[in-house]
Amino acid sequence: MPFKEGLSLNRIFSPCSIPSRSFCRSFVSASSSFANESREYVVVGGGIAARIFVEHGQANGKLCIVTKEPYAPYERPALTKAYLFPLDKKPAHLPGFHTCVGGGGERQIPDWYKEQGIEMLYEDPVTGVNIEKQTLTTNSGKLLKYGTLIIATGCSASRFPVKIGGSLHGVHYIRDVADADSLISSLLVVVGGGYIGMEVAATAVAWKLDTTIIFPEEYLLSRLFTPSLAQKYEQLYQDNGVKFVKGAKIKHLESGPDGQVTAVKLEDGSSIETDTEH
Ligand SMILES: Cc1cc2nc3c(=O)[nH]c(=O)nc-3n(C[C@H](O)[C@H](O)[C@H](O)COP(=O)(O)OP(=O)(O)OC[C@H]3O[C@@H](n4cnc5c(N)ncnc54)[C@H](O)[C@@H]3O)c2cc1C
Repeated sequence: MPFKEGLSLNRIFSPCSIPSRSFCRSFVSASSSFANESREYVVVGGGIAARIFVEHGQANGKLCIVTKEPYAPYERPALTKAYLFPLDKKPAHLPGFHTCVGGGGERQIPDWYKEQGIEMLYEDPVTGVNIEKQTLTTNSGKLLKYGTLIIATGCSASRFPVKIGGSLHGVHYIRDVADADSLISSLLVVVGGGYIGMEVAATAVAWKLDTTIIFPEEYLLSRLFTPSLAQKYEQLYQDNGVKFVKGAKIKHLESGPDGQVTAVKLEDGSSIETDTEH
């Protein structure tokens, strides 16, 4: 995560876990230059944490969530399980999969945060933290004082190195709504034989796209499935038209004159064509 000042995240986390009735750190009163004087907790990145604060009576006016996305926190698994579906399969849309819907809790739509007195800052990534002053700065220039800082910035998708074509037009990754939006109807080769790769391939079938899954292992979901269980799933996918290239090692991605990815070149010299229209 691109925090400035070279801070290690380990130094930022305090050993106390939030929220309990006793806090291992008391809030230092903010100066008047900080808009919300009673803000005690700042969460960078959004997720289920807000609900936990609410359950412990620690949200109202004391909690601020700063996120770089334009949406209130949502259930990321829904992206490949329902958001990518074609229209006739009734794809999920926000606010249908805001956080806590899947867990049976209240739907945490933007109004929910307002009702709970939780301050939300959208589309404003945190760019720096000053541990000594207990302040953080955001991309838009806001300066926030915090008593306790919780960093919940998740992780990012592994990307192919640029030198082998990882940034070519037509190469997609999936981690958030924006990624999913750019992916719809441009699928053909899915790299990765884990859950997310399988889910994306299933969606591609629903869009009636010619789909190939490639992965370096010998069988699907090899970290979880036994070979015989994987074989059943592979058969199901193949029955639905999905092709597999197993044991594949990617050498590089090829592109046309317009910089659009055209093929995945493998170490064994073979190549697999990709969709050239998106
Ligand atoms: C497509 C997909 C399918 C998945 N399916 C499953 C599944 O079936 N089962 C399962 O258990 N898990 C699944 N996962 C994993 C699961 O979604 C993650 O484990 C979970 O989202 C992690 O939650 P988190 O709150 O730690 O991080 P995230 O959900 O990644 O949230 C981090 C947030 O922090 C924001 N952020 C990052 N940097 C900054 C910054 N500098 N300033 C402000 N905000 C910032 C990000 O934009 C994001 O909104 C899936 C993930 C994906 C992408």
